[in-house]
Amino acid sequence: SGERYLDFFSGIAVNLLGHSHPVLQKAIFEAGKKPLHFSNLFEIPEQELCAKKLCSLAENSFQNEYKAFFCNSGTEANEAALKLARKKTGRTKLLSFEGGFHGRTCGSLSITGKEEIRRDFSPLLPDCKKLSFGSLEDISRIDEKTAAVFVELIQGEGGVLPAEKEWISSLQKRCHEVGALFIVDEVQTGVGRTGTFFTSEDYGISPDIITLAKGLGGGLPVGAMLAKKDISAAFTPGSHGTTFGGNPFIMHAVNALIDEVSSSNFLDSVQKNSEYFFSELRILQEEFPNFISEVRGKGFLLGLLLHAKISAADLQKKLREKKVLVITATGNVLRILPPLITTKENIDYFLGVLKSVLSEEIH
Ligand code: PLP
Repeated sequence: SGERYLDFFSGIAVNLLGHSHPVLQKAIFEAGKKPLHFSNLFEIPEQELCAKKLCSLAENSFQNEYKAFFCNSGTEANEAALKLARKKTGRTKLLSFEGGFHGRTCGSLSITGKEEIRRDFSPLLPDCKKLSFGSLEDISRIDEKTAAVFVELIQGEGGVLPAEKEWISSLQKRCHEVGALFIVDEVQTGVGRTGTFFTSEDYGISPDIITLAKGLGGGLPVGAMLAKKDISAAFTPGSHGTTFGGNPFIMHAVNALIDEVSSSNFLDSVQKNSEYFFSELRILQEEFPNFISEVRGKGFLLGLLLHAKISAADLQKKLREKKVLVITATGNVLRILPPLITTKENIDYFLGVLKSVLSEEIH
């Protein structure tokens, strides 16, 4: 309609470079001139390059060798991870957390924490149990029968809830004690969303498997599973596969996006702008204590926990009427997911609109 919007939800944490970024556009045009698809029965140099880039980022961060598997979405990345965990360990028990979200195919849904979205599809995978997010006590439920534990470091759909670092370390330690795989779902938090390429870097951990999607393609459908090399060896030819995953077209664009996000200063600027955003939101919280109960999250994954006085859905609607787009999350939380290229000026504009909506609410 020719109207201008400020998109601060990025197609649910997808458009890392905003819309029509020249780097991604150029890569898509280049890739579009070449053969689009061959299938994984052939070597795909763009895919090998992409695997090399992601694995070396993971290797530098986690001091371990990794291998990559590409697919088309977050749920598929988690399906690959849960199959690999079962094949590697020979065990069936899968643990994950209440409030967690891992996707909507039957495997990923089985480990998703929200009973409301699982209910209509039971029976799902057997032997899937949900632990309480953040509970030290529940860690003892991880035992020698456990194939894997799936966790989000910041629950996104679950309300922008960051896990405590010490708790995550204990979780990893317990997994290693009993031979269960420690799997970190970075579908929403990965690829720079929180200011480092992987959020796991900030937690000082070394996940056995990391799953990625959403931002990885900047708007193109792609998912990836990165698994430690010795674990990935459990997948032999024929164990798992995909027709489209990692095709040359998508991989060429993903390579360009990874280069951009991992280029010097790119993530520094995300960190700097995010710090500014958080501090300004905290000032706004002081101004509107009856509306904003908590400002939480990291980088450009931000959540405003609202008091019951105002519903997140209502606030989202009012912002949209003023041409500013955000999304909600579980528990009356306004979820703000700006593109990583967001500037201080964009943030100021957002804050101005948010302030005007909240001021109108008071009167
Ligand atoms: N894992 C997390 C943490 C997510 O936030 C999502 C989607 O919201 C998924 C997995 C599923 O990804 P997709 O919708 O690409 O299948």
